[in-house]
Amino acid sequence: IISSQSSSGLNIVHIAAEMAPVVKVGGLGDVVTGLCKALQRRGHLVEVILPKYDCMQIGEIDNLQILDVVIESYFDGHLFKNKIWFGTIEGLPVYFIEPLHPAQFFLRGNVYGVHDDFKRFSYFSRAALEFICQFGKKPDIIHCHDWQTAFIPPLYWELYAVVGFNFAKICFTCHNFEYQGTAHASELASCGLGIRRLHRADRMMDNLNHDRINLVKGAIVFSNIVTTVSPTYADEVRTAQGGHGLHDTLNLHSLKFTGIVNGIDTETWNPFTDPFLRFHYNADDLHGKDDNKDAIRKYINLSTKNPSQPLVACITRLVPQKGVHLIRHAIYRTLELGGQFILLGSSPIIHIQREFEDIANQFQNHPNIRLVLKYDNALSHFIYAASDMFVMPSIFEPCGLTQMIAMRYGSVPIVRNTGGLNDSVFDVDDDAIPAQLKNGFTFSKADELGLNNALERAFHLYTSNKDGWLQLVKKNMRTDFSWNSSSVQYEKLYLQTVARTTNSEFR
Ligand code: ADP
Repeated sequence: IISSQSSSGLNIVHIAAEMAPVVKVGGLGDVVTGLCKALQRRGHLVEVILPKYDCMQIGEIDNLQILDVVIESYFDGHLFKNKIWFGTIEGLPVYFIEPLHPAQFFLRGNVYGVHDDFKRFSYFSRAALEFICQFGKKPDIIHCHDWQTAFIPPLYWELYAVVGFNFAKICFTCHNFEYQGTAHASELASCGLGIRRLHRADRMMDNLNHDRINLVKGAIVFSNIVTTVSPTYADEVRTAQGGHGLHDTLNLHSLKFTGIVNGIDTETWNPFTDPFLRFHYNADDLHGKDDNKDAIRKYINLSTKNPSQPLVACITRLVPQKGVHLIRHAIYRTLELGGQFILLGSSPIIHIQREFEDIANQFQNHPNIRLVLKYDNALSHFIYAASDMFVMPSIFEPCGLTQMIAMRYGSVPIVRNTGGLNDSVFDVDDDAIPAQLKNGFTFSKADELGLNNALERAFHLYTSNKDGWLQLVKKNMRTDFSWNSSSVQYEKLYLQTVARTTNSEFR
């Protein structure tokens, strides 16, 4: 067990609902692992607290064991016992909380999407804080992520700091302002928060529906540091158009709010060592990339006749944010342009899943189109490695990891320039952009014409200037998308906050 005092750096606890590769639904899982590893490399003591889900990839946890402690936590007027498990994930110490509550909150077979998600994560947030206090931990920073752990900032200042557990500063990162965790105000009480104190316009009252409380708003109000995952997205969410109702709150608290672009975990995402690939390659020798392209075409039964027929990929959750109508259009347009398309994606929204199932059936044995409508991590690695181009026509995109992974694997991104895409993809044909930054194809208007234009320019370079294309691929593969510089920005914020404020002050 990691001693609370064993590091000369900061003592940082991350509390989250996901952590790759053990429990991952989207980018949040990648970010928690990638950022924590980078902070650990910088000499900090970094620990993570997760729920103990039944649906975790338990084989990815080293030395998983039950600790000889029982932590009691409050919920709905009673105290419940929690078992605490401990193990390491990619070298990071991780505590798992298993509630001994009759509702069996984390034995549901799914990470999210259960009718009582609000209750499940409110229980978890309270139990995680109880664990920190009862286990004698004294973190300098408690870093929570998204609405599932946004209960923690108000809980910490309202219930814990006031009775002397005031050693920590709170950092909250919102990975997507579309998901805010709202509920009827009465639901706040389950974890012990005071409705009358918090259901107020300047605290947790939802800005759009005044009967409800809003967890992300509460976390903005009650945290010392609030971040989101790219500078452009941080600007967008401060406008009425992009703020999902929280722009006024963010503007009021703008001094503690900033956007830091995510990195990718360059150990996990490395085409030279990737255990999911049969053929490895790097920017000096791309033969392995060609071999992967040939192999995937055989694997998913696409035509292998023409090795230089461009292979376009898209790997995504199929939700409106990702521009599903433009993804659909990209499939048909790629076909018209003479390319091949592979989509790996699935949708939590039934009518979207059905729509794509229909398209998948339409192209069932087609030599140039394949839709794989599921979540498949191993296949995602194979597709990044095999593809020449990667489409991401997002309507909004807080950061986006897939465009960076694609570049690391030599697949050139074609993206709409919004949010984090605007901070990471720079158009090859834009004379205003310095040559060393140019790395992909972008478009502005979220319509078919915009996408067509970017896609056609990519096809044109690919087919008419092989050498230019290869130079672009190699340059992208050599770009540093690691967490190195972004973790330094988080570290700076942590250090400034630890040094600055008095313990009882969260603003
Ligand atoms: P978001 O968090 O909005 O889903 P990101 O681009 O930040 O989008 O991160 C998505 C992550 O999930 C990437 O690591 C991507 O490879 C992975 N991913 C998305 N869809 C699938 C899928 N169907 N199968 C495997 N991995 C997927």
